[in-house]
Amino acid sequence: MARRKYGRKKCKYCEEKVEYIGYKDIELIKYSLSERYKIMPRRLTGTCKKHQDMVQKAIKRARQVALIPYVVDRHRVIENPFDEIKPLKSK
Ligand SMILES: [Zn+2]
Repeated sequence: MARRKYGRKKCKYCEEKVEYIGYKDIELIKYSLSERYKIMPRRLTGTCKKHQDMVQKAIKRARQVALIPYVVDRHRVIENPFDEIKPLKSK
């Protein structure tokens, strides 16, 4: 089942009126991460510059605190890597 993930050209963050993206906002960050935890370029996601800058900072911060791995092992193919990321809402 091939679902088009990045087909929309509108900024998702603007659509949802997101004003700030923090490193704990995994639900927001993951819009802009590929399945190998790489930052998606704007030309694929349609994210506007303002939100792309914000999400890039958030991703870098999230990596520093090990919420997101830097590199995914090439031999480990994960269908949905975010199954492994636990949101921090309870903290
Ligand atoms: Zn935006």
